[in-house]
Amino acid sequence: MLPINNSFRKLRSFKKSMTFLLLLLLSVILSKTAAAEDPPTPEANRAKKIVVCSTTQIADFARNIAGDQWEVKCVLGPGQDPHSYRTTATDSRDVAGADLCLENGWNLEGHGWMRTLAENSQRPIRTCVEGVTPLQTEDATGEVKDPHAWMDPENAWIYVKNIRDGLSEVDPDNADLFTARANLYRYQLKALKAWIATEVNKIPVQRRILVSHHDAFGYFCQAFKFEARSPQGWSTAELKGVSPTKQKEIAQMIRDEGVKSIFVETTLNREMIVAIAKEAGVEIGGELYSDAMGPQGSAGETYIGMMRENVLTIVEALK
Ligand SMILES: [Zn+2]
Repeated sequence: MLPINNSFRKLRSFKKSMTFLLLLLLSVILSKTAAAEDPPTPEANRAKKIVVCSTTQIADFARNIAGDQWEVKCVLGPGQDPHSYRTTATDSRDVAGADLCLENGWNLEGHGWMRTLAENSQRPIRTCVEGVTPLQTEDATGEVKDPHAWMDPENAWIYVKNIRDGLSEVDPDNADLFTARANLYRYQLKALKAWIATEVNKIPVQRRILVSHHDAFGYFCQAFKFEARSPQGWSTAELKGVSPTKQKEIAQMIRDEGVKSIFVETTLNREMIVAIAKEAGVEIGGELYSDAMGPQGSAGETYIGMMRENVLTIVEALK
């Protein structure tokens, strides 16, 4: 009986060892799968903190202030329209790994998609228009705040201050660096505003009528004494194109007021503006950067670059 008992025990012990090994193997596989699927932990051992921005111009401000201390990511790419953007799984994953999120606000991000991304992952978010005196405009829901505030360099400074404060709150050890960079950038914004004011003086005041796709230039027009006229209202998401009647009205206004040229926006389809220009018998004055900057390597790849190129295009076409 004894040898049989011994063999039985050995068999049982072998089975136990195998079960243990299998369980160990399974737990290793499961933990690796979980690590691959879990969103990155913001506080994990990383050399740099991460800020995720909604628009390209906010990302440019953030790069100027954060320097080498933070990594700057941007949801939108060059030439992408924030009003009609639909977020992706990659955006959710990026935001889940953010130490700070930055949005424009006032519904530039159609239906508040950046805030939704941040709230879904419970990440802190700052609104860059906080502190700007809003221009009122209208959409299908009634009176709303015009979100295109960065078009006046003075408002860009308010964006920069909000970004500086957001970074400093999360990363107080580098607050002095953020403040120093913000102060230097302020000089550049002041110089930009003074340069624009001088350049636009080449256009007689009665000819300062800016016709483009949508009301992206309200703050620019207010700051530099232009009148903004656009067929599409303030948001490209709320109104899909314009009716033939509206198109004729705009063409009539262009003829009545002697507008020389009208402009295409880089983020939007040029067909509507081409049709209106044809109807009114005027030229296309060029492309303007509105809700997004240009691609890397282009003259409009930074905020200051996009504003400079817009002004050169506008002055050349309307003077
Ligand atoms: Zn817009």
